Amino acid sequence: MRTANVIVLASTNRHKFEEFRELIARHSGVELHPIEEHIRNADKLGYVETSDHYYDNAIAKARACNHGCHYPSLADDSGLEVDALGGKPGVHSHRFAIPKAGETQDSANVKKLLEAMKNVPEGQRTARFVCHLALVMEGKLVHVVGTLEGSIAREPQGTGGFGYDPIFIPKGQTQTLSELGNEIKNKISHRAQAVAHLMEEIKQQEIVLAKP
Ligand code: IMP
Repeated sequence: MRTANVIVLASTNRHKFEEFRELIARHSGVELHPIEEHIRNADKLGYVETSDHYYDNAIAKARACNHGCHYPSLADDSGLEVDALGGKPGVHSHRFAIPKAGETQDSANVKKLLEAMKNVPEGQRTARFVCHLALVMEGKLVHVVGTLEGSIAREPQGTGGFGYDPIFIPKGQTQTLSELGNEIKNKISHRAQAVAHLMEEIKQQEIVLAKP
């Protein structure tokens, strides 16, 4: 039987942290801590994202974090797979575009994706978000995957969320994730699915995630 009252999230992405904090709180009394609280130069963890596979990157980030702080460590590697682009930007979603002056990484990514999709007709704009989650604790590894199917809008809509949220319309919805807002996103997202699977695994493997 293993115990973990605190999980450290191996990510410096504030949006991801807030989503995970809410998702984990929904399933357990475990506290999620940001990596900056436990590891100096946490941004350097990005350097371990060297693989073309989400799986390898998630595990490498979680292992590096666990090695540095000894707390159970959670990492995700996620991306957007667009069918009309042969699955791109995929594992390279974060640095898909090179931002110009005045652009953020996210706005440059959205612009480049819409440009690449400008001649793709309705019905062929399908895409999915993928999230690989790795939890590393006491030499133990749990790996799970979550996905969210949807399609790419013609133009950005809404102000919520981050990344490609303004142009991603989940299947069965008519608005983008940015318009739908965090409450709905956290019910259906790839991260929500992955956290639900993680909690099932934790239960099955009798890993205790509760405050003493
Ligand atoms: P990484 O997992 O840190 O490599 O970054 C994944 C990238 O995929 C992010 O920087 C976003 O561009 C994109 N992405 C992953 N999840 C989401 C999401 O929930 N909404 C929008 N974009 C996302």
